[in-house]
Amino acid sequence: MSAEPKGVWAYLQHNKEGLTRDSLEVLAAARKVADRLDQDVVGVVIGHDVSSWAKQAVEYGADEVLYVDSPEYETYFNLRYIDAIYQAVAEERPYILLFAANELGKDLAARIAYRAKTGLATDNVQLEVEDYTNPALGSFRDLLIQIRPDFGTRLARIYTPRTRPQMATVRPGNFTPLTPDKKRKGKLRELEPEKREYPARVTEVEELPPPMPDLPGAKVVISLGLGILKDGSGRPRDPREAYDLALKLKDAIESRYHLRAEVGATRALIYAELKELEGLISKSNQVGQTGSTVRPSVYFAIGISGALQHRVGMQNSGKIVAVNMDPNAPIFKIAHYPIVGDLYEVMPRLIEAIGGAQVAG
Ligand SMILES: Cc1cc2nc3c(=O)[nH]c(=O)nc-3n(C[C@H](O)[C@H](O)[C@H](O)COP(=O)(O)OP(=O)(O)OC[C@H]3O[C@@H](n4cnc5c(N)ncnc54)[C@H](O)[C@@H]3O)c2cc1C
Repeated sequence: MSAEPKGVWAYLQHNKEGLTRDSLEVLAAARKVADRLDQDVVGVVIGHDVSSWAKQAVEYGADEVLYVDSPEYETYFNLRYIDAIYQAVAEERPYILLFAANELGKDLAARIAYRAKTGLATDNVQLEVEDYTNPALGSFRDLLIQIRPDFGTRLARIYTPRTRPQMATVRPGNFTPLTPDKKRKGKLRELEPEKREYPARVTEVEELPPPMPDLPGAKVVISLGLGILKDGSGRPRDPREAYDLALKLKDAIESRYHLRAEVGATRALIYAELKELEGLISKSNQVGQTGSTVRPSVYFAIGISGALQHRVGMQNSGKIVAVNMDPNAPIFKIAHYPIVGDLYEVMPRLIEAIGGAQVAG
């Protein structure tokens, strides 16, 4: 057992093609933190026939990879995976342990934190390293600062000064995978977790179809907010008009640029449960803290104020085009192309400019 907890560990998921995008982002987050601490990044890979994914982890920034490679681990079974990871954590004592804030990462992270009797900050959008002083607890050097939106309008900074590892989940879409370097060298070490009998086993695995719409995979996202309910003169509008305009904009973009576009929405619009939008916009269209995180090349924010909970889901988009009547709307602070105006006038002009069908005014 090492004397002091050391190393920034990243749990890495894979599929048939290799490490998943979420995992490459977690590796990038781990690299950033490890460089600040002058520690190593240790990737953790579990499955069957995973040695090439372990090598891939080195190319993407790991200094060392701990891997479990056995047919028993081919299919995900949380109890077996938790045992394997927890055994390694207990023996090797990492300083930090990161997971992606996706379904599998959340399943593992919470249970491992419980076993390791440590804290867990979930859904982080940024990670930093800083010294920390608290009058009641004392001073701590080089702590992981876990940054995530709170339940109001602020970003919370979470510290877990007294327990190790410091554990966090990283929200997909907030870190950029590093450029792979085929020549990068790293150590690969196979783990052999203790064998155990489990009271349950996985008998069948059903792959669910990808979520519709696939917002995280879209190159362009056109999101609508509560602003669609009234036009610039304050006259109530049928929200289907704005939805149709969004579809026309999507068609124009797809046919001119051959980029896949999807329609998103704010939580406020979805929670308004408008009967006109029934079957057209639902929770699966939601962008933001409690919806999808997206990182398209272009994001259109149409009639959206830009509340923090919305911004954290789209602020890393390549270019942000915002259409809002209010020149002081917070969305304009992050927009590359701010358009102050009535969306019912601006959208038809955007569609025409892109080469879509003329929209009757
Ligand atoms: C715990 C928690 C989690 C949350 N999670 C999410 C989340 O995941 N995603 C999310 O989006 N929100 C989330 N929210 C809600 C968030 O705080 C905001 O309330 C919401 O994003 C606001 O939505 P909006 O911009 O559509 O509406 P508003 O804030 O009402 O903004 C409407 C905007 O439209 C503009 N406008 C009005 N008419 C026009 C017009 N004709 N043309 C152009 N502009 C016009 C207005 O100037 C205004 O800026 C969450 C809140 C909490 C507390």
